[in-house]
Amino acid sequence: MTEKSYVSMERRICIVCGTEYDTNALLIDKHLRASLDRYTITGWGLCSKDEQLFNAGFVALVEIDPAKSGSPPDGASVKPEQVYRTGALAHLRRDIAAKVFNVPIRQGLPCVFVEPGMIRKLQAATHASTDRADAT
Ligand SMILES: [Zn+2]
Repeated sequence: MTEKSYVSMERRICIVCGTEYDTNALLIDKHLRASLDRYTITGWGLCSKDEQLFNAGFVALVEIDPAKSGSPPDGASVKPEQVYRTGALAHLRRDIAAKVFNVPIRQGLPCVFVEPGMIRKLQAATHASTDRADAT
């Protein structure tokens, strides 16, 4: 059994790369009871590396395996806790991502889940468009 305390260090899981990170926040039991574990995961967030990229205007493409991910009913978008990450990641500028996917990328959206092979395709596509931009 782990030792409980009335303080706990808050941790979140990076929605992009799936790693746990410290938020440097302390959680304190309201009644100062020793009810908390050393670490408490409170939800999803962005680790410092991915937050930097997010603030710099990038959206992360997170490759998932649809066969191993929980499939949501009636085509709703997959929930982060259900996805099976393959480990492949890419970061695209928001404006480029919007063009490539042909949908507006919501301002606060840190990442999109994509199917296997998508990242490779997109890298080829965005590389082509950068080449064109350089030529002008
Ligand atoms: Zn991360």
